Amino acid sequence: MAIYALPPAPFDCVICGAPQMTSPWDKHRGASTPIPPVCNRCSHDWGKGTGGLGDLNRDRRIIRQVSALAEVISATAYCKMNGHRGPYERA
Ligand SMILES: [Zn+2]
Repeated sequence: MAIYALPPAPFDCVICGAPQMTSPWDKHRGASTPIPPVCNRCSHDWGKGTGGLGDLNRDRRIIRQVSALAEVISATAYCKMNGHRGPYERA
């Protein structure tokens, strides 16, 4: 019986657009496994959570992802209101 969820299919992060895939050699699935649709980097850079870095609790990681998505939307709206392009908007 698997403790962790099966690794996700390859996906592109909805915030930064970086392709994400789980290494088939990664035996230690958990904190390093990205959860679609946000990559680990964006989740840690934009999200706020209680678990800290390397948190293995999937529910807290998803809460951090939702927080990251809300923060990016807020930052993009702030940039647009001030006449700038968003943080991940291409010129
Ligand atoms: Zn990302």
